[in-house]
Amino acid sequence: MKLEKIVEDTAVELLRIAATELPVEYADEMRRLMGETEGEVGKSQLSSILEDVDIARAGSLPMCQDTGVVAFMVKLGDGFPLRSSIKDVLVNATRRATDEIPIRPNAVDMFKGNTGDNVGLRGHVPIIYIDLVPGDKLEITSMPKGGGSSNVANHRMLKPGLGLKGVKQFVVEAVAQAGSLGCPPYFVGVGVGGGEDYVMKLAKEALLKPFKVRSSDPEIAAVEEELLAKLNELGIGAMGLGEGPSVLDVHVEMAARHPASLPVGVVISCWALRHAKAVILSDGSVQVIRGA
Ligand code: SF4
Repeated sequence: MKLEKIVEDTAVELLRIAATELPVEYADEMRRLMGETEGEVGKSQLSSILEDVDIARAGSLPMCQDTGVVAFMVKLGDGFPLRSSIKDVLVNATRRATDEIPIRPNAVDMFKGNTGDNVGLRGHVPIIYIDLVPGDKLEITSMPKGGGSSNVANHRMLKPGLGLKGVKQFVVEAVAQAGSLGCPPYFVGVGVGGGEDYVMKLAKEALLKPFKVRSSDPEIAAVEEELLAKLNELGIGAMGLGEGPSVLDVHVEMAARHPASLPVGVVISCWALRHAKAVILSDGSVQVIRGA
């Protein structure tokens, strides 16, 4: 089979897995936290989420009606044969996935309305981030993100004098402001530094860092621990009803910044943090990686 076809088929499968199979680690954690939840309201919300997750997995059905805006994070080896065509392949995969899974058409043009196939008319959707890396592998991560939790993302250019204390305060404010709107319990990605645009990419990347694994930098790890505890003290609760967990995990990604700027980005995911990854070698062999 041609390599382009293998990559396209794999990308369709990654969108299917992301839409229909919540990583088991997330479901296990919600099940554990359901056991610790005292109120019946919180328990019943978590129970409904877990039932939905099971039905979706068993029937290969999307776990939510909003299947998100399609995005791919790509690590493209400089020795991998497909380079200039990779974007076209992922666009084709998005069209096919829309029909075959199916997933809801979520690409809306300002003038023409919904395009009907999750592909934007102006070349920016699906969102595709490509990093060039050494080697002959292609790594693709699908990450379709729902509108409800995307709407509660937050960004601020802080005064640098506010320092780390200001960063933490802003993250707590952002999640408090999100409240119930993005279908908690949440995953929270925090970006610090880089610039006004790059900081949001850092925050989005932070969302997909390994579940419950703290940063290898002990200073950042301590910030993650502190934020996780503080955010759960907000008492938002499952689906915002004040009982059960508010936040399942927090990751922080930091970059250097301009001396006069302290950009902070907060990207929030609902409980349905959907993603799946595959590594494709030049010989066409594929390894699909599920899980958090
Ligand atoms: S925020 Fe998440 S769970 Fe809520 S409607 Fe959107 S995709 Fe679905």
